[in-house]
Amino acid sequence: MVNSFQNKYEKAVILAKELKRKGIRDERVLAAIASVPREQFVHESMTEFAYLDKPLPIEEGQTISQPYTVAYQTELLQLKPGEKVLEIGTGSGYQAAVLCEMGADVYSIERYQGLYLTAKERLNRLGYYPRLFFGDGYEGLPDHAPFDKILITAAPEEIPERLKEQLRIGGWMVLPLGGRQGQKMTVVTRTGEEKYRKTTHGDFIFVPMQKGTEK
Ligand code: SAH
Repeated sequence: MVNSFQNKYEKAVILAKELKRKGIRDERVLAAIASVPREQFVHESMTEFAYLDKPLPIEEGQTISQPYTVAYQTELLQLKPGEKVLEIGTGSGYQAAVLCEMGADVYSIERYQGLYLTAKERLNRLGYYPRLFFGDGYEGLPDHAPFDKILITAAPEEIPERLKEQLRIGGWMVLPLGGRQGQKMTVVTRTGEEKYRKTTHGDFIFVPMQKGTEK
């Protein structure tokens, strides 16, 4: 499938092939990466680096995650079309665009108002319409719960309790868990009303998940 992408962004297709070589197996994830013009999600001074498999700085001292990390987290979500997914940390909006390409019903929260506004304008301009919210991701979106999947793209030191409660039974959350020195990618599955199961995966480094909002 990776060899037969059509009408996609040539550089994004090459990036998807690189991620395949690095171990991403899910062809739907690779096809989504190949469909999103990452250069639209970084400052114009960074355009030449947009298709490197590297994180890049965005406003407010935050980062757009490395494409491998985006693909790795998305693969762990095992999204089915139409599933309701909540992302914490909209940032540039790139991950939200990838989730939209997967056919998910996407909700995303960002704690910096400026990033929220920029991501909204950018995603809509590109034809993506996730439901975006300015707020504190630690609170989740109780009015829209339950979610089939939750994806956290900043690192909390503990599993956020309010988010666990917003998973449907049988659903799961993918999060980088740990402090500033580094995190373990973690999957927390809600197996019953009050029952959860945790598995851990690779090592990553994310910006910290912080409480409250900033205008
Ligand atoms: N998914 C983003 C990655 C951005 S980096 C992308 O594709 O570009 C992580 C983002 O999480 C930052 O924008 C940061 O401001 C945001 N963040 C950190 N703590 C948060 C919280 N409590 N609620 C919502 N967003 C948060």
